[in-house]
Amino acid sequence: MTKDELQALLTGPDLIFRHAAIDDIVISFPAHADLFFAAFHEDGELAKQLADAAQQWMPALREGYDDLLPPSASPERYTTFQSLAASHAVFLREMHKDLAMLDRAAAQRAIDTLWYHFPGLRGDLQRDAAYPQPVEHRQLMVFVTGQCNLHCPYCFSKELQRSSISQTDMLRILAWAERCHVQSLLPCGGEPLLYEHMDWLMREVAARGLKMYFATNLSVPLPEAMLSSSHVLGQLHVHLTDELFRSPSLLSTFLRNLQQCRDHGIDIILRGNVYGGETQQPYDEWFRIAKDFGLEALNVALTIPSHTGSNRFVSFEAMQALTPLLRYIWEQGREHDIRVSIAKPLPLCLFPEEMALDLLRHDYNATYCNVGEDSGMHNLSLSTDLRFSPCLGVDEPSVPFTDDLSWEALRRVFSPAVRALQSQPLFERCQGCFLYHRRLCQGACLSYKRASRNGGVPCAG
Ligand code: SF4
Ligand code: SF4
Repeated sequence: MTKDELQALLTGPDLIFRHAAIDDIVISFPAHADLFFAAFHEDGELAKQLADAAQQWMPALREGYDDLLPPSASPERYTTFQSLAASHAVFLREMHKDLAMLDRAAAQRAIDTLWYHFPGLRGDLQRDAAYPQPVEHRQLMVFVTGQCNLHCPYCFSKELQRSSISQTDMLRILAWAERCHVQSLLPCGGEPLLYEHMDWLMREVAARGLKMYFATNLSVPLPEAMLSSSHVLGQLHVHLTDELFRSPSLLSTFLRNLQQCRDHGIDIILRGNVYGGETQQPYDEWFRIAKDFGLEALNVALTIPSHTGSNRFVSFEAMQALTPLLRYIWEQGREHDIRVSIAKPLPLCLFPEEMALDLLRHDYNATYCNVGEDSGMHNLSLSTDLRFSPCLGVDEPSVPFTDDLSWEALRRVFSPAVRALQSQPLFERCQGCFLYHRRLCQGACLSYKRASRNGGVPCAG
C-alpha cells in the first residue's frame, strides 16, 4: 500500500481497514515511521491502537520488570534475540529523529504520550525528564484454606496446612486491606471454593467494593454467592486437572459449573498444568473444552516446586526436556485456533525462534511474571498461618500479619528481595541476551531461584 492509501485507511471510518493499516505500518517499520508518529501524536484511541500493535511486534516497548530500564545498547552486542535488539534500536532512532523535528511544547506532549503508552521506554525518557511513578494496583492473595478435594501430586500447595482462616481473622484482614487501599482480593488454597466461609467472604468483598480473582479446579459445588455476586469476580483461572478426565462424575460437575460461570458472564481463563512424566496428559481434551465453551486462549504452566520441593514439580533439567512437548501444545493451539500462552515464565531461548517470538509478542507472562510490578508488591500473599510473603512462589522473606502493619513497611522488605531474584541470571548466556538486558526475561518462576539459593531445588546455576 502507498503512504497516501495507508493515511486514508488510518483515519477512515472502517475499523477493519484501520487495523489492517496499523499492522502494515508497524510490521514495515521504519518505512512509514512518519505516519506512525504523526498519528501517534494525535493521542486518543488511534495512539492506543498503534501502541498495542507496536508492542506486539517490538516487545521491548513493553514494561520489563523494573521501573527504570537500562539504556539500549548496540544490537551487535547481543548473542541471543539480536533481531529484537535491532528492531528496538531502529524504533529509538526514528523516535529521536521525529522528536527533533518538533518544537519544544509539541516535543514535550509527544514525550508524555510515549511515556504513557510505552512503559519499556520510560527508562530512556526518564533520563531526560522527571515523571511520576505509575499508579499502583494493590491486590492481596490470601490462602483461605489448605483443603482441597483433589490434592494433585504436582500442586505447589501440597504441604500447606489444611487449616482455614477464621471469620474473625478474615475480618481483620479485610479491614487491613481497606486501610491499605487494596483493590482486589485473591482467595487461594487448596481449593478456595472449599473455604467454608466462601459465600460470606464474597458478600463481604462485594460490600467493600473490592474485586475478586481466583484459581479453582471448579469440580466442587459452587457457592451460592458465586453466581448471585458474579459482578465481583474479575476473572476465574480454571485448572484442567488430570483427575477430571479420570472421573466421569468430576468431569460432569466441572462442565456444569463451567457452563454456569459462562452463563453468568464470568471471565474464564483455562489453565493446563504440564508436569511431564510417563503419563500422557489429556491435551486434546483441553482444546476440546476451550472450543466447546467458546474460549479463545489456553494458559499452560509447568508445575513449580513447593516450598520444600516435595510435590511433583518440573525440575530445571526436565523443563528443558519438555520443550518439544510445549512446542507440540503450541502447534496444536494454532491448529485449533486457540491462542496458547505461558502462565509461568520460561527461558524462551529454549524454543525455536518462531515460537519464542510468537509467545513474546502475544504473551506478557512468557518471560517474566508480574510479581515484580508495583515495587515487588503485586502478588502480595498471606498464608493460612497469617504471614505475608511476596507471592506463592516466593515465600521468603516473610512478615507476620499485624493490624497496624503498613503497605510501605512490607514493600521495604519485599521489593529488594524480589528484584534480587528477578535479576539473578539463569544461564551464563543471559548476559549476552537482549531480553535479559532489557529485563524482559527472568528465566523461570522465582520459586526455582529461591529454592536453589536455599540449597534445595537445583537450578541452571
Ligand atoms: S533465560 Fe537468559 S538467555 Fe534465555 S531468554 Fe531468558 S534472558 Fe535470554
Ligand atoms: S514468582 Fe512464580 S509463582 Fe510468583 S508470580 Fe512469578 S511465576 Fe508466579
